[in-house]
Amino acid sequence: MYEINHLIDGVSVAGQSGHTKPVFNPATGEQTGTVALASVGEVDAAVASAQAAYLGWSQTSVATRTKLMYNFRNLVVDNAAEVGRLLTAEHGKVLSDSAGEVARCIENIEYACGLADHLKGSYNELASTGVDVHTVPRPLGVVAGITPFNFPVMVPLWMAPNAIACGNTFVLKPSERDPSAPMLLAELFQEAGFPPGVFNVVNGDKVSVDRLLEHPDVKAVSFVGSTPIARYVYVNGSANGKRVQALGGAKNHMVVLPDADIGLAADSAVSAAYGSAGERCMAISVVATVGDVADELVEAIKVRMDKLVIGDGTDPASEMGPLITRESRDKVAGYIASAAADGATVVVDGRDAAFDNDGFFLGVSLLDHVTTDMDAYKDEIFGPVLCVVRCETYDEAVGLIADCPWGNGAAIFTRDGGAARQFQQDADAGMVGVNVPIPVPVGYHSFGGWKDSLFGDNTMYGPEGINFYTRPKVMTTRWPDPSTSEIDLGFPVNK
Ligand code: NAD
Repeated sequence: MYEINHLIDGVSVAGQSGHTKPVFNPATGEQTGTVALASVGEVDAAVASAQAAYLGWSQTSVATRTKLMYNFRNLVVDNAAEVGRLLTAEHGKVLSDSAGEVARCIENIEYACGLADHLKGSYNELASTGVDVHTVPRPLGVVAGITPFNFPVMVPLWMAPNAIACGNTFVLKPSERDPSAPMLLAELFQEAGFPPGVFNVVNGDKVSVDRLLEHPDVKAVSFVGSTPIARYVYVNGSANGKRVQALGGAKNHMVVLPDADIGLAADSAVSAAYGSAGERCMAISVVATVGDVADELVEAIKVRMDKLVIGDGTDPASEMGPLITRESRDKVAGYIASAAADGATVVVDGRDAAFDNDGFFLGVSLLDHVTTDMDAYKDEIFGPVLCVVRCETYDEAVGLIADCPWGNGAAIFTRDGGAARQFQQDADAGMVGVNVPIPVPVGYHSFGGWKDSLFGDNTMYGPEGINFYTRPKVMTTRWPDPSTSEIDLGFPVNK
């Protein structure tokens, strides 16, 4: 049984609050460790360390910051297998999903390595006679990141590399359910040579989140998690004068037109709905079939589901692992029961799958003839359950997306370029895929949904991330023409 502490001012600090939470291996159901839950005083210590580091770090040259960020990037590459192992051990996702998560981390660090370019600012000469104007992006100070369980290292690295590259210092409050991998990141930040206090981790729960939201020295908060907490963080952080970006939950639709490549659509639906046990904010939760495509598509999805290997994520044969907690598994199973009671057709029932240990496993489920009044349609299930809603027309399918309170991702499957182009206009969501079920933007674009999937003005990482973590300072300067100077400048000027 191991203990997970905090990392404050470059050193591991044992929790002082007396409050801890168990950490489990979801594949066995066994408790493997305990994580310290920070008190207000421990959060204050982390913020004080970050505040003390800020002065020096924000004045550190671009050359040095770039070098350290490259060091960090290389260390994450070198330690990718260990990061992946920790992800699988506490989250439960299969090793290939963990490797995919680490690859996305590296992409975001590499973007931050280009800080010299991102922080160039802009310059106008001759705004008026003898007057020039230039803008430089300046850092904010101490910024906090509060992150969810489902991507324990990727989401922190959506935030911290860009924040730190811009000259800020960072306090991370990771999910208390799988905190070991983010702690390894903290060690790698130290090993890369970042000064103590530039990157701190406080483990904790609502107590630490609330303290970060009210602490006067925290200038900005980046949050990713469920919609109710995202709204809470946005409202309270903003009320305390902080800059806040808070990404919430999702319910992503995949529209399949009658002319779609059925094999591609079925493959995509299966990987996007059941990958990482459906615990992805960009997971496909709803397939909206148009016209007569449903029967063939449902059959093609079912055939593929029957072949999915579900098991311990450490087994290379496993394609899907367990859910994060026992409670989460039971909640997801409840949606299958309620959809059946509401009249949906349960084509594949994940509750029927048998597992030979106490891990938090649930089989994959496919619900057909789902209607918009069912809880399975209305709620974010966040598990391996795919709903099929049969639509008569394209307009009906697009209308589902428009009426959905969330607007994270949306995808269309078709061979028709005109229909695909129209969908890009019509889909009421922040990220759209054409024959791509999970359109997570690359690190040099930015990630974020619309409606209840994002509270705040800036989406995350890429150019919007740089924008979030900087504030512009605009200099207006006037210098008289040296040829009119009465002062002897000591060198010839063209009088
Ligand atoms: P969560 O909202 O329960 O927790 C997120 C963070 O908030 C954690 O650090 C947690 O400790 C903290 N928290 C939880 N309850 C709190 C409370 N009452 N007060 C203050 N802080 C609290 O989310 P989760 O279950 O860890 O993650 C899954 C959710 O995150 C899903 O809804 C998923 O869609 C969403 N998510 C969204 C994105 C996105 O980019 N939009 C990405 C990943 C996950």
